[in-house]
Amino acid sequence: MSSLSKTILSLFHKSGMTRFTQKLFPNSLTVLNYHRIDWLENNQDMFQPNISASPQAFDEQMAFVKKWYRVISLQELTDWLLLNKPLPPLAALITFDDGYLDNYTNAFPILKKYDFSAVIYLTSGYIASNRPFYWDLASYCFFHTQTDCVQFPDSTQRRWSTNDEKKEVLKAWIEAMKLLKEGEKQKWVSNLPEALSVSIPHEKFNNVMLNWNQIREMHSAGIEFGAHTVNHPILTRISLLEANQEIMGSKKKIEEELGEPITSLAYPNGMKADFNNDVAYLTKEAGLSTAFTLLSGPTSLSSVKQSPYTIRRIFLSHRHSVAHFSFLLSPFNRIRSI
Ligand SMILES: [Zn+2]
Repeated sequence: MSSLSKTILSLFHKSGMTRFTQKLFPNSLTVLNYHRIDWLENNQDMFQPNISASPQAFDEQMAFVKKWYRVISLQELTDWLLLNKPLPPLAALITFDDGYLDNYTNAFPILKKYDFSAVIYLTSGYIASNRPFYWDLASYCFFHTQTDCVQFPDSTQRRWSTNDEKKEVLKAWIEAMKLLKEGEKQKWVSNLPEALSVSIPHEKFNNVMLNWNQIREMHSAGIEFGAHTVNHPILTRISLLEANQEIMGSKKKIEEELGEPITSLAYPNGMKADFNNDVAYLTKEAGLSTAFTLLSGPTSLSSVKQSPYTIRRIFLSHRHSVAHFSFLLSPFNRIRSI
């Protein structure tokens, strides 16, 4: 972001402009989307775009939300959708995707401090396992390789000479993986350590994800859980039969562990190409009442009622200042992303 944009955002924030516009649209739903809450310094060789905020920035953001929004639970949203129970004005829902351990160690104490509920969407096949997500595995390989280039699926090679260039190539490589069919993607990912001559220490990915005891403890303290598939495939890049297994498998596993129905899904990756009408239909048929995308912006309650399987969220990154955060929550962000 340019320094001019930063100055404008800061002026908007300080003048109260973003908060003023929020008040113009009280019948809105603002859904925040986090992945990891942790310090960048502790995650130098993990996939950094997934670090949504440091614990300190998360605390500041929650203070802002407490002041200007009414945090609701997924249950309240579902009761409004299905039973027409009223929602407060300026309703906000806090969500996390994937199921990283830091949701428990870092985010949970802060959520308790503000007395906020939140929903954590679990990739059930990774919970209580030492299995790394491909973006974390790729990051480890990139940051520990002695080579300076990598092969892409379109047969091109990309080189780097600085750390910043390497981060750009890593991001591009991960984006290229998302365009492949699931089986192809897995081949590329499993070949990467050898291609970059990196050996991954056995315990590197221990204690990265939540386990079921931590999930149950949070659940009994009011945190809610949703399905995020079993293996995190992009649902439009596998067959409908497989997509159905991914959705149902995740839902059933979490239901078994928590002993209550799961009513909501977050689509892996969540962008426009990552879900479609068929996937939304499967979600509905699986008995789920809501599904969340990563199409950006707050949304009106009428759009949620009309399309409960394509609810917008606001993707948050550790790069966002509080001024940027308040802008993203404002209706400007919804208008910008239409
Ligand atoms: Zn995810």
